Amino acid sequence: MEGMLKDKVCVVTGGSKGIGRSIVELFAKQGGRVYYLSRSETNEPNALAVTAAAAGGSVTWISCDVADEKQVDGAIESVIKEAGFIDAVVNNAGVTRDGLVFRMSLEDWNTVIHTNLTSAFLVSRVAARHMIKRRSGCIVNVSSVVGITGNGGQTNYSASKAGIIGFTKSLAREVASRGVRVNAIAPGFIDTSMTDKIPEEAKEKLKSTIPLGRTGKPQEVAAAALFLCSELSSYVTGEILKVDGGMAM
Ligand code: NAP
Repeated sequence: MEGMLKDKVCVVTGGSKGIGRSIVELFAKQGGRVYYLSRSETNEPNALAVTAAAAGGSVTWISCDVADEKQVDGAIESVIKEAGFIDAVVNNAGVTRDGLVFRMSLEDWNTVIHTNLTSAFLVSRVAARHMIKRRSGCIVNVSSVVGITGNGGQTNYSASKAGIIGFTKSLAREVASRGVRVNAIAPGFIDTSMTDKIPEEAKEKLKSTIPLGRTGKPQEVAAAALFLCSELSSYVTGEILKVDGGMAM
């Protein structure tokens, strides 16, 4: 299908690489006017712009630390000022600072909670205000299967991702009557720079726990985001969609 997001204004956090980069590209290829928020610009922005333009879409980078209230408010307001409205938000930015809990610094705890969870609150707060007024819009938050199952060495990360699930369901209930849908995606093991850091031996062990027998691609998570931001999911809200090869079933 083509043009699923034709002329839709979409905001994607953490769009410079990995899953977010794939979401930006897919949304633009579907005709979306995509704004992505990250601290650095994606590699080869010109090639991305050409791909987007060929499909009738566009891609704009806004420099923003999504854990910073002022920067987020400024970034979202600038999108609304330029584009007039926002149809879809994907809260995707995230980081890890792994370690056993008794050795974890408060700084590593806070960095992960602020970047992964508080950012979704900050972005959604300002975007949802506008969506509610228009009585239309959708928000997709990127959680993780470890937000459901837990994972040793990732208390901060799992807590942030479990928080995303509670946030998603609560916000979905708050805004449903105003025509705004809120859902989450819980990816499993996806090949990005985040999982590059995992030692090869641990990766092989992890793979053996995946029923589909392989790791996932960022494009496979982007496809789920497209579904949740398009009319195809018009009767879906408060849902947590696992994209994990069956890992956490
Ligand atoms: P990635 O390749 O490391 O990309 C992370 C993205 O987040 C980058 O674009 C980065 O951009 C952005 N980001 C990080 N901190 C930021 C900040 N303070 N402000 C703005 N942007 C920030 O990771 P990924 O694997 O694609 O992960 C994307 C999302 O999927 C994350 O929420 C992650 O937790 C989740 N996830 C990933 C997996 C997996 O297996 N890969 C599994 C489950 C869930 P800049 O550095 O340019 O700011």
